[in-house]
Amino acid sequence: MTARSCHDLCRRIARRIEALPDRPVRLMEVCGTHTVAIHRAGLRGLLPPRLRLVSGPGCPVCVTPQTYVDALIELAGRPGVRVATYGDMIRVPGRSTTLERAMARGARVSVVYSIMEALSLARQAPAEQVVFAGVGFETTAPATAVGLKLAADERLANFTVLSAHKLIIPAMTALLESGDLAIDGFLCPGHVSVIIGADAYKPLAARFARPCVVAGFEAEEILRAIDLLVAQLADGRAEVENAYARVVTADGNRRAWALIEETFEPADTPWRGLGTIPGSGLAIRAELAHLDAARRFGLEITAREDDHGCRCGEVIRGAIEPPECPLFARTCTPANPVGPCMVSREGNCQACYKYSRAL
Ligand code: SF4
Repeated sequence: MTARSCHDLCRRIARRIEALPDRPVRLMEVCGTHTVAIHRAGLRGLLPPRLRLVSGPGCPVCVTPQTYVDALIELAGRPGVRVATYGDMIRVPGRSTTLERAMARGARVSVVYSIMEALSLARQAPAEQVVFAGVGFETTAPATAVGLKLAADERLANFTVLSAHKLIIPAMTALLESGDLAIDGFLCPGHVSVIIGADAYKPLAARFARPCVVAGFEAEEILRAIDLLVAQLADGRAEVENAYARVVTADGNRRAWALIEETFEPADTPWRGLGTIPGSGLAIRAELAHLDAARRFGLEITAREDDHGCRCGEVIRGAIEPPECPLFARTCTPANPVGPCMVSREGNCQACYKYSRAL
């Protein structure tokens, strides 16, 4: 990134905004990594006040419903069951506790960096049931798919996955259908788009007449994508453009997508803050039902939330900014998080606390 090119881009964006009708322009980034990059680079402060960057449901830990966390906690307390999860999940509050606090009381939880580690745990301890917490969007689902196929091939009898994998486009659709958020365009996620491809946004752009631009993660790349979005608004266009073509193709990674389709099928799934969205989740296919923790252990994940005053649901929808939550930076901090948006490194509240609190 050069300061000069960023400065030039900001000036061009400002000129374009000035030429638009006099109303706020709201662009939503639907990727937690974008949210962090925007806060870290201070991009909001460089853009014209009329242009609002709004963070959406792009942090996988944040959108995972509370009942899923409760299910993991309950499982980890069952005799002979071990939960294997990525690190961020252990601090996310369930209804009354966290996996971390449950661990301190003797619940079996292992923090892993991949599903392969969870498979190793299962191989090493055949008397234990290992449940892998499958969380994330299209980016992490292919790795879970590989793990499921390996477990099936090896006939591992003590390994299951509790899938909370989600699809981003149904969530974007649900936000637009709700009609109360006034989103003028989307900064589309770089990582997810590697898998689904830039063309995947075309139906959404056409149906709702909203421009979509796939963006990289450097400040200059984000500004370029914003510039393209604003140019489309100025021209009255609603197209899909790919400003991250060095990594994202039009079709995406067909091999990774085939893996997802072999192991998962779309399902109605609850999201924190968004309720249950039709076809927005990835459920393990019936052929692999023996590897599905929800089926094996009789678990039901619902959209019920008991938020203890936490307003993550509204933060995730882009309905409020983190400082509008009364708990932000008071009782809720990264050291003592009340909600997932402060727990996760990709959460809007944590990013705002770390990089933008003074703004
Ligand atoms: S500041 Fe804390 S309590 Fe408030 S919405 Fe964010 S995570 Fe939830």
